[in-house]
Amino acid sequence: MNRMGEAHRILVIEDEPDISDFLSLELKHEGYEVAVAADGRTGLEMALEGQWDLILLDIMLPELSGMEVCRRIRAASQVPIIMLTARQSIPDRVAGLDAGADDYLPKPFAIEELLARIRVHLRRARPSNEDEDLSAADLTMHLSTREVERAGTPITLTAREFDLLELFVRNKNRVLPRETILEKVWGYDFSGQTNVVDVYVRYLRSKIDVPFGKPLIHTVRGVGYMLKE
Ligand code: CA
Repeated sequence: MNRMGEAHRILVIEDEPDISDFLSLELKHEGYEVAVAADGRTGLEMALEGQWDLILLDIMLPELSGMEVCRRIRAASQVPIIMLTARQSIPDRVAGLDAGADDYLPKPFAIEELLARIRVHLRRARPSNEDEDLSAADLTMHLSTREVERAGTPITLTAREFDLLELFVRNKNRVLPRETILEKVWGYDFSGQTNVVDVYVRYLRSKIDVPFGKPLIHTVRGVGYMLKE
């Protein structure tokens, strides 16, 4: 249920009818409202026109690739996107995340795992009720509005980047091992792929550090990262 007490709406963009039928049935059984698009172009149109709480996106799609669909959705919306794909290599996984996906699940997957990840992302996407501001040096995070600014300049972060920054700020001047970051921000073991943490720290630095010259996030070699005030 969303904040309005309505069922969460999930868009499935998948060209294999066996998989989309199966997903549709399972998701409806869980109480979600589901729509299916069978090619990339239709999927993109539906993604941009409708109100979705989450999108499941196949990578190998006719008309428009899943990567491209992901990039274009991300240019317009912060809706959580979980990529589904037969590809398992790390470069592809990172490419998916680079395109703006929040998560990545290789096929074949266990439906229980997919449902668990969907719940994590829906929970995370819900706006925080905390009327709290966090700060570190000249950086401020408004938790209620999920706005971030540094030295008075507003910074736009994705949901995941915001969560990562929140973890850093709440633990400022403390070393955070990669495994801890993975567990706290992603909520589960991302198949032991802590390079995902490095990818996201790079995104975060490009937004909160690089433009301001004075880095807040520091690499602790062989361990992880630390936000130093
Ligand atoms: Ca496909």
